[in-house]
Amino acid sequence: MTRSIGYITNPLVRHSAEGDPEALANAARNPESALILLAGDLPILKAGEPGTGLLPFSTLSRLPSHKEQVFLGTLQERPVIATLAAPEAAELFQGDPAYTVTDLRSIAVRGLVPAEDLGILAMAKSILDWHNRHRFCANCGAPTQAAQAGFRRDCSACGAQHFPRTDPVVIMLITRGDKCLMGRQQRFAEKMYSCLAGFLEPGETVEDAVRRETFEEAGIRVGKVRYSTSQPWPFPSNIMIGCVGEAISEEIAFDRDELEDARWFTKDDVRRMLEGVHEHFAAPSPIAIANHLLREWVKD
Ligand SMILES: [Zn+2]
Repeated sequence: MTRSIGYITNPLVRHSAEGDPEALANAARNPESALILLAGDLPILKAGEPGTGLLPFSTLSRLPSHKEQVFLGTLQERPVIATLAAPEAAELFQGDPAYTVTDLRSIAVRGLVPAEDLGILAMAKSILDWHNRHRFCANCGAPTQAAQAGFRRDCSACGAQHFPRTDPVVIMLITRGDKCLMGRQQRFAEKMYSCLAGFLEPGETVEDAVRRETFEEAGIRVGKVRYSTSQPWPFPSNIMIGCVGEAISEEIAFDRDELEDARWFTKDDVRRMLEGVHEHFAAPSPIAIANHLLREWVKD
């Protein structure tokens, strides 16, 4: 299993800014191009130890049809094209031992592809999902068409241009001396606790979002906040902004609609949770940024 945070390594040279209208068509004509293929939500991988998400472009000929294509960029000069197919297309590969078909979270947790492929798969999944959900203009309701090699959708009725979106989420390790605050949601795996998190609201700084979310979810007031690290989270298109905040109050009053429990953990607790030897509590998966925030904290 990989120890690095999932989805953060992306070696692609991006070409979205160049705006060449022929970029996608040129890449699609190049037999050397690599194909990232998603059947609905599911990436199609070439099986192996490790496998890869970069398929020969000719793999596309197995499909009777496909939906949007996006020219993601180049990998050592090799163009990479993401292609969305209908969910049923997964069946064409599922029985074939040369391929692995599974969801992107499992691919990360099980380390089925190198970290570089995982980052490219995350990028492809987020942008293809955006195409799939933005077929109509948010301004006038008319159908939109993909443009700029897949990095824009244009409305021919009102002229509006729509760009792929990324939704920011703050995720924070809140500390108070030798203790840190974590909560658990009902849907979490048994014994697992994790950092609190929530969407950034319009007109809000990252620091204020950390303070507001922590107060709303756990009733804890937070003073100083600093940025730590970030992680693309392709479910479907979030960016997790990892922060560390200092609590200025201690009494927890958690929101029972959001959380099943929230409590303070000592560094000793967290070390044992990370090692997987704690009797009562477990840490989030190593692919999650929360795991990284906890590891950094117990190092001090
Ligand atoms: Zn429109």
